Amino acid sequence: MTHEAILWERLAPDDLRVRCNLCAHRCVIPPGRQGVCRVRANHDGTLFTQVYGSTIAQHVDPIEKKPLFHFHPGSKSFSIATPGCNFRCAFCQNWEISQMPREQGTILGQAATPAAIAAAALRTGCASVAYTYTEPTIFAEYALDTAREARKLGLKNVFVSNGYMTPELLHEMAGLIDGINVDLKAGRGDFYRRISGAALEPVLRNLTLIQELGIWLEVTTLVIPGMNDSDDELRWVAQYLVKELGPDVPWHISRFYPQYEMSDVPPTPISSLERAWHVGRESGLHYVYVGNVPGHNTESTFCPGCGRVVIERTGYEVYRQDLKNGACANCGTSIAGIGL
Ligand code: SF4
Repeated sequence: MTHEAILWERLAPDDLRVRCNLCAHRCVIPPGRQGVCRVRANHDGTLFTQVYGSTIAQHVDPIEKKPLFHFHPGSKSFSIATPGCNFRCAFCQNWEISQMPREQGTILGQAATPAAIAAAALRTGCASVAYTYTEPTIFAEYALDTAREARKLGLKNVFVSNGYMTPELLHEMAGLIDGINVDLKAGRGDFYRRISGAALEPVLRNLTLIQELGIWLEVTTLVIPGMNDSDDELRWVAQYLVKELGPDVPWHISRFYPQYEMSDVPPTPISSLERAWHVGRESGLHYVYVGNVPGHNTESTFCPGCGRVVIERTGYEVYRQDLKNGACANCGTSIAGIGL
């Protein structure tokens, strides 16, 4: 369904070309053409989104699967996506739907109004709606309208994102989106250009702005053998997080599995992930997690004060919480997060 887009402008009053200001690509789109994401189209000088009002995926997931480990732990999140993405990562785990408009030239989905999604979230016992699987920035109009409906029902809203939205969109999200997990894929601009067709700087800038806007932030880095797994690179990322965002930002180090255009690259060795975990802890981060390795002994949250387990997890399951008013029940150290 087409729906007029938000955050766009004409290049000049007598020029039918438009600039989309939803993500940092800031595509200039002539009439009859689409932006890089292939879901936003210029019809006679007006920008429309073509992914409003239908979803390609709807699932009830543990919030831990996003991953968000410090946001209402143990709750369920009603998770939705539309086709499309503003990145074209060679390792995308959801490429069948994220690259559908680009590779298949089509946009599929099942009709679902924002109010119906919010109602389904409530009915299924979810505490939040998650905009996830593909890149929610490119379906922002739909996500924000759904977030408004979810709010009315007392539900939270979370994004799982590549962090490439514009500051203008982040300001629109503030007050509606409560939590966000951002992929920080690497600490090198050439990795972003070569592997994702994007730039690093806007992502770094947004990490800071997300915190300034009061949106709960967790960061994920997919560790890919031979691509971003050197000690130097991992240390750069960990130290950047500590320095710019503080030691309480949770860092998820995720295991790569062969996918899409990188099906010839082997899965990340567990030893590399554990090396990354040590780099994160040595750099001063309080909460570092190895992801995509169910049962790994770093899945639980440890109190930075006394070292005891305060949230015990295996896989996406939370088994026990030893917290009192958001603090360690043993020593009283405050544990960072929302809804703890
Ligand atoms: S959302 Fe990003 S990629 Fe899509 S049209 Fe807008 S600026 Fe371009």
